Amino acid sequence: MQEYVAQPPLVIVSGQGGWLTDTEGQRYLDGNASIWTNVHGHNDPELNAALLQQLSRVAHSTMLGLAHAPGAELAAELSALAPAGLTRTFFSDNGSGAVEIALKLSFQFWQLHGQPEKRAVIGLAHGYHGDTFGTMAVGDSGFFHERFRSWCFPASHFPAPRCHESAGVVHQAEATASLAALRHLLENQAERTACLILEPSIQGAAGMQLQPRGFVRAVAELCREFDVHLILDEVFVAFGRVGPLFVCAEEEVVPDFLCLAKGLTGGYLPLAATLVREEIYEAFLGDYASGRAFFHGHTFTGNPLAAAVALANIRKLRPLIDDGTIAARSRHFGSILTQTLANCAFVSEIRQRGHAAALDLTQADGTPFPVALRAGLQVCLRARAHGLLLRPLGDSLLLVPPLCLTPAELTLLVERTQAALLDVLPTLSSP
Ligand SMILES: *Cc1c(COP(=O)(O)O)cnc(C)c1O
Repeated sequence: MQEYVAQPPLVIVSGQGGWLTDTEGQRYLDGNASIWTNVHGHNDPELNAALLQQLSRVAHSTMLGLAHAPGAELAAELSALAPAGLTRTFFSDNGSGAVEIALKLSFQFWQLHGQPEKRAVIGLAHGYHGDTFGTMAVGDSGFFHERFRSWCFPASHFPAPRCHESAGVVHQAEATASLAALRHLLENQAERTACLILEPSIQGAAGMQLQPRGFVRAVAELCREFDVHLILDEVFVAFGRVGPLFVCAEEEVVPDFLCLAKGLTGGYLPLAATLVREEIYEAFLGDYASGRAFFHGHTFTGNPLAAAVALANIRKLRPLIDDGTIAARSRHFGSILTQTLANCAFVSEIRQRGHAAALDLTQADGTPFPVALRAGLQVCLRARAHGLLLRPLGDSLLLVPPLCLTPAELTLLVERTQAALLDVLPTLSSP
């Protein structure tokens, strides 16, 4: 906060497509899709129309004991598009909430199922599932959450696979050790374990750590073999971010729980959903006295404005995925990124899949920058002068463009990133 307050303030007043404009009239490319949420751009006419239409009916009415059409339609739409079997949706309003709900449902399910000893959780090393206590407990974000560890319930983690991929070229892919460690963990503790939680395809907040193709499938098979719920946290990767609407559908995996948020409303409004299998839903049925009910609800859960925008978002996105538009854009993004920066002395690795990429920054001699130099942050601050908004993760630059950027805009994004890092890094780098 002290560093943030010391920077000149940047106050956004409007947005159009992939661009944001500040109080000084400066235009910036939204290089992180407003924290990984934006799909069709800002001020999208179709999403705006859906929002205004719902606004003229009712802005909010509770889903606790009542229903509304946009919520019901969205739940039906999500079930229809998700892998078969994910028939029921529990709404909330942020990704952490969607994950907490999946965890609590799994915990309660095993009690209702007569196996209350199944209450441990397994996560993937460096996983990020949110900033609430439950999500911190199952995540492994080190430095971010370390000081809260003693208040968190215990969870086991297995090592992540390694995958170095960009522009569709796989430079390295290794999952054997990770899967062997998981099998070992399950052999030891499956009968005490409720669920395994995983960000499929890409661990975003870990710095865009990719998984080899087939990894999610292999994890899902182990979960099935050992009778442990699989929670897929697609909060970041769904809605076209890495290509398909849902990663699990592409990997032909049916999780027990599917968590959605960020791109669900195209980046317009806070909304999240936890999809569950019918069998899990049914376990919670019973009269009030049976105590089987799931006592969990958020005040603004399934807000109708957000649900209406989510429906418009999905309606607009599906044809763009189906006709290859999104894939063509992400191929362009990957190739321009590699062409422009693969040989840059200050970039030690580029990881890219879909509309998500990380550039690991190092000194020209390949050694890390001293942490105190804040090399990643300095590049992002400099990028503003080039009309680009980016956020670093330590000394990695995370590039997460809105899916609406044209090839020319994606090129501009990469060129401006290059300009910013060449302005800054030679001055910070030891010779
Ligand atoms: C952002 C994120 C979350 C948390 O979502 P919030 O809406 O910020 O609570 C959870 N999981 C993943 C994979 C995320 O990227």
